[in-house]
Amino acid sequence: MARKVGFLIVALALVVAVFGSGALAADTLAAVKAKGVLVAGVKDSLPPFGSVDPNTKEFVGYDIDFVKYIAHKLGVKVEYKPVTSANRIPMLMEGRVDIDACTMTKTPDRAKQIGFSYTYFLTGQKFLTKKGTVKSLKDLEGKKIGTAKGSTSEQNVKKAVPSATILSFDDYPQGVLALEQGKVIAVTTDESILAGQLGKLQKNPATRGKYEIPDIQISNEPYGLGVRKGDTKFLDFVNATLLEMEKNGEAKKIWNRWFGPNTDSPINRGKFRITADRMGLE
Ligand code: GLU
Repeated sequence: MARKVGFLIVALALVVAVFGSGALAADTLAAVKAKGVLVAGVKDSLPPFGSVDPNTKEFVGYDIDFVKYIAHKLGVKVEYKPVTSANRIPMLMEGRVDIDACTMTKTPDRAKQIGFSYTYFLTGQKFLTKKGTVKSLKDLEGKKIGTAKGSTSEQNVKKAVPSATILSFDDYPQGVLALEQGKVIAVTTDESILAGQLGKLQKNPATRGKYEIPDIQISNEPYGLGVRKGDTKFLDFVNATLLEMEKNGEAKKIWNRWFGPNTDSPINRGKFRITADRMGLE
């Protein structure tokens, strides 16, 4: 009897170790339906992708709207968990979130650790600077540049401007503060994110008209939703949902809501088309 109990305890410990560590790809589709909630890793200070509306205190944005649609289709509620560029992949792998919807670029390196959905947004890396200070990459040489820890932006800028000193913050708004304080000459990341930060600077009378995003692009950044590696049923569901959103016009509606002609987004000039058009190609 004692032996049997001992065996059970060992077996239980093993189950906890395996599932608890996320080492075994669980069936998130079934798990989310069973618990009635989809836990989404999102950004909380990066408009127009993920931020908290100061009035309603609700999470809003392009990434948020994709998550909402997926949860609605699953018939479950959403719980948003703020993530950073550095902790979003560990959080997913450890089972602390079910899906990452957080301005995350699909890269072969990251795809070794997690699974990616079809591309649902495409942008490219640029720089946010004080007006007239940076005209080409040369102007950045040997200077200090801010970005976020654990981002592709951090890796790309090190390659594009090897002589620069890169200051990596937890998130981009901290980099923008450093730019305002003159501690860095530029903040670098995806143009779509910089546009949101520039929008904030434009709204403030003290900083209005003083900043810009020069036309210097150093990479392409296709965004994917992140799921656990090997979580095939869930990934298939997410991808089928994205295709449905593309077909029924929902993806376009979301694009228009955050980047369309009726928004104040500086990237609504048609240069960046919704990449939902390209879903299924990658
Ligand atoms: N899209 C880039 C990345 O995934 C930069 C934005 C971010 O840090 O979330 O790293």
